[in-house]
Amino acid sequence: MSFKAVRVEKTEAGQHVAFAEVGESELMDGDVTVRVTHSTVNYKDGLALSGKSAIPRRFPLLLGIDFAGVVETSEHAGFKAGDAVVANGFGLGETHSGGYAEKARVKGDWLVKLPPPFTAAETMAIGTAGYTAALAVDALDAAGLTPDMGPAVVTGAAGGVGSIAIALLAKAGWSVIASTGRPAEADYLKSLGAAEIIERASLSGPGKPLGKERWIAGVDSVGSHTLVNLLSQTRYRGAIAACGLAGGMDLPGSVAPFLLRGVRLIGIDSVQCPMAPRLAAWSRLARDLDRGLLAKMTTTEPFARVFEVGEAILKGQVRGRVVVQIS
Ligand code: NDP
Repeated sequence: MSFKAVRVEKTEAGQHVAFAEVGESELMDGDVTVRVTHSTVNYKDGLALSGKSAIPRRFPLLLGIDFAGVVETSEHAGFKAGDAVVANGFGLGETHSGGYAEKARVKGDWLVKLPPPFTAAETMAIGTAGYTAALAVDALDAAGLTPDMGPAVVTGAAGGVGSIAIALLAKAGWSVIASTGRPAEADYLKSLGAAEIIERASLSGPGKPLGKERWIAGVDSVGSHTLVNLLSQTRYRGAIAACGLAGGMDLPGSVAPFLLRGVRLIGIDSVQCPMAPRLAAWSRLARDLDRGLLAKMTTTEPFARVFEVGEAILKGQVRGRVVVQIS
């Protein structure tokens, strides 16, 4: 039986990304086959869908870095037919065919059982972006930082990682400063729990090696000058969790915040993240993410519109999170 998928192929002219009817023979090695019901569009998916990125590293490949669905067949001891599962990362949509397909075959070791109380659609409303935000908040916790020490800053605030980071931090008692390039979204950001909104432009240009100490913690989706400015304005012994590169992959800064203020820069990787911190992040989401707020930050799109949403996310036009209904 063939099924619908978004496939990338390499041609002499470059990458060709399009919808295709594919057969089961195109599924890759794995011990669990899943009927995919939902996926999502993360920034990385937008890059892959554009056909102009280095995200896919094997060809042909079915794109999509996340999925939720129901196990059809399993040779893995941890899963049986009918189990509801979620997958993020582990090379999905990069080196292993992923979630923009009505069917996926993966290693059971990559799967997480649908974390209660979430529905499959809600896990994709969270998606890699939301689970990464939870990893970042867990990392700030593990760094010993608590809301009584000062505020937390979140950049790329109206995006996916940003929106969920705000909701999680606010729920944990933090006073959250949200940095956005979309001041029209101030009410939205406040509804998620932001206490203060600042202009993206105030952080995006070259700054001083050390600035006024403003926050003790931060979650950054932007990178480049923005991350450098976050570090230079972090209070003594604070930490910033670096998640993203929406503003650039460079880090044009100074070591002064590390040496003079003991500031820490914590890298967040969602892709190869081991199972224990992965499950801890899902537990935090289950405990602290208000499902009403999640609904407020989520829009749902049919599979047929995935390319349009991919273009929009690269232009910074997507607010919050998008669920893609696969089947
Ligand atoms: P989104 O596009 O949803 O959010 C990114 C936000 O960054 C935008 O909404 C916008 O927020 C802001 N932004 C966009 N362009 C620029 C720019 N040129 N300069 C400054 N700010 C900008 O993406 P996601 O939330 O899905 O991902 C955010 C980042 O995190 C991406 O770089 C992504 O690749 C990365 N990521 C990394 C992961 C990891 O494992 N480390 C996992 C998941 C994501 P606003 O309009 O509010 O300013």
